[in-house]
Amino acid sequence: MNFIDLKRQYQAYRKEIDQAVLGVMDSTHFILGQEVEALERELSGFTGAPFAVGVSSGTDGLLLSLMALGAEKDTVIITTPFSFFATAEAIMLLGAEPAFCDIERESFNLDPHLLEDRINELEGLGKKVLGVIVVSIYGQCADMDAINRISKKRGLFVIEDACQSLGASYKGRMSGNLSLLSVTSFFPSKPLGCFGDGGMVFSQDEHLFEKIKAMRIHGDRGRYDHRYLGLNARLDAIQAAVLRAKLRHFEEEITLRQEASDRYMDLLSPLERKGMIGLPHIKKGCRSVFAQFTIRILEEDRDQVARALSELGIPTAIHYPRPLPLLEPLKRYGFRKGEFLVAEEAARQVLSLPMHAFIEEREQEEVARALFKVLDK
Ligand SMILES: *Cc1c(COP(=O)(O)O)cnc(C)c1O
Repeated sequence: MNFIDLKRQYQAYRKEIDQAVLGVMDSTHFILGQEVEALERELSGFTGAPFAVGVSSGTDGLLLSLMALGAEKDTVIITTPFSFFATAEAIMLLGAEPAFCDIERESFNLDPHLLEDRINELEGLGKKVLGVIVVSIYGQCADMDAINRISKKRGLFVIEDACQSLGASYKGRMSGNLSLLSVTSFFPSKPLGCFGDGGMVFSQDEHLFEKIKAMRIHGDRGRYDHRYLGLNARLDAIQAAVLRAKLRHFEEEITLRQEASDRYMDLLSPLERKGMIGLPHIKKGCRSVFAQFTIRILEEDRDQVARALSELGIPTAIHYPRPLPLLEPLKRYGFRKGEFLVAEEAARQVLSLPMHAFIEEREQEEVARALFKVLDK
């Protein structure tokens, strides 16, 4: 059994994808160009975000967004302690300082109730807080209305790190169009993945869109008119062609993911009732794309459970074993254990189960049987 089965997906759309890729090879137009522009239009339509810029990865998308918004030395960006490292890394690469706001136990997302106090605390120390990066972890959006409201009141920008949540919705609006800027990733294992690295930045603001579009190509507004410092962070045409072929099946895949998650919920609910695990909690008004189906192991040692499952042929993953503030490159800020209790507890308990649009019922039953065997002795 595979944790994510990309082979099945490729087999299902092989003809369309191969044809699209061959088309790019025939055109010999390999970087940006028509395929990328078409993908930008299609994903702008899909998310409802007025502007979209194809970039080389989610990480580069975060970096470009922060650069465009002026993150630099002596500025502070608030984010969640419970995410993939790239969220904090992008802030730090620009010389800005990362600050953290603990998560909600239910959704694993940044807790808006803690945000204002954190802003007050940082500003009280004389720090210049610029904005907030909110991560839609596991494919479910955070409480964006509350976070946008507080941020607006305090003059802070909001970036949604939507690297796991393309296709998710929040109160009827799509992830990618819930804040000023939003960044998604097309890393192969993400809900919409390409055949290498890729990403997209969505913008609600035309000026920022133009700036980021220039910044992805060395700040060039055309014909070597370099207006800004930028990066080489372009999306390849082959990746865009693969993504366009897959995008035609994306809604269908989201439905399949939803069905798979419902099935896990049914199969595993007896273990939750016995207090042995915690199942994902999707908030009212939210549609998760289940980038991950992540449970909590409540009584047993999570790492031992993962090993026992592996011995039974069930692959699992841990997203993520350590909260960001406690990782090595953040040592210099002096964050301590106990500062982000909810994130620390999550890091000890979470376990992601095999999840993708092509998972079969019998495989999910096998996962459930193995979990019962390991936990409910
Ligand atoms: C995957 C991911 C990223 C980085 O995306 P890449 O395309 O791999 O650079 C950033 N943030 C989160 C939350 C992610 O899951």
